Amino acid sequence: MTKSLFLRLMSALLCVCLLAGTFAGCSGNKAKTDTPSGEALDVRADEYAGLVDGYDPEEDNLDAERSASDEVSLAGTVLTLNGEKVSFSNSSLVEHTRLSPNKNDPEHNITHRTHKIDTITIHCMAGQLSVYTCGNVFADKDAKASSNYGIDKDGRIGMYVEEKDRSWCSSNSANDNRAVTIEVASDSSEPYKVNDAAYKSLIRLVADICQRNNIERLTWSTDKATRIQHKDGVNMTVHRDFANKSCPGDYLYSRMGDIAKKVNAILKQKASTTTVKSEFPYMIKIKAKMTDVRKGAGTEYDIVTTVKKGEVYTIVEEQKVNSETWGKLKNDVGWINLKDTERVD
Ligand SMILES: [Zn+2]
Repeated sequence: MTKSLFLRLMSALLCVCLLAGTFAGCSGNKAKTDTPSGEALDVRADEYAGLVDGYDPEEDNLDAERSASDEVSLAGTVLTLNGEKVSFSNSSLVEHTRLSPNKNDPEHNITHRTHKIDTITIHCMAGQLSVYTCGNVFADKDAKASSNYGIDKDGRIGMYVEEKDRSWCSSNSANDNRAVTIEVASDSSEPYKVNDAAYKSLIRLVADICQRNNIERLTWSTDKATRIQHKDGVNMTVHRDFANKSCPGDYLYSRMGDIAKKVNAILKQKASTTTVKSEFPYMIKIKAKMTDVRKGAGTEYDIVTTVKKGEVYTIVEEQKVNSETWGKLKNDVGWINLKDTERVD
């Protein structure tokens, strides 16, 4: 499909959306977005129900449209939230990034999320949109909608709002401030079935989000009040908790327990390999010209000092982070990535 045809189709669908006042997120949306809380910022991809996805990013020269700001760092950011330092990063599973302007709370000049990530909210797109099309929908300021991640029918993962930022996804600012929101491509009508490839990617992505944000276990409840109040360790919510909509559709809703189970199996497996079996202490020599020493194991931690090629240090502990092994230096100096070193003992 050519770009002009694509844009015409999108604007036609937008008109349909605006005319169809029955959509919970559409009707009265304009007035609601002017409210300071940012509630109900919810004209979302699922209002484009029925869109046949024919958008070809190569043909439409997608890269030319993306800005430099789409080149986000996976290294992460540290924010101070309620007096606590919280590190944020983004998933390395992302294949397409197109950052949406629809995020945070511009009315109050708040430029990041205001709560640490402790919740997962999975949505359905109500259409088989590719990660590219979904990014285009959310790139439109007038859509007043976004999600942190999107997954398409082929299992590709897109990022539209970095994890440090609050997306406009679930019709509830408190939820979106604490949740990572994920739009999953689905059929366009109930039960909004999701392809196997998308489902598998969803599990991998959620496990990755939990691991990086220290969510040890994913817990689902079929009781709405339990979900909303985060009782009994429940840390999954759904869009229908906050708005009069079907989202995430009965297909995903009935599988939330299965998603939690599969994610928890991955988390358990990863936890058991976190501490690498080695004999401590041992000596290493720095191979790279310079290597950063960080406060913790992983690039999301602050740099405390740097060490130089040829210098020799003692490692007293190891940790595996995103398949790379980090070593702790003696005397609590900090952690270094062991890929830049060689054993010398
Ligand atoms: Zn939704």
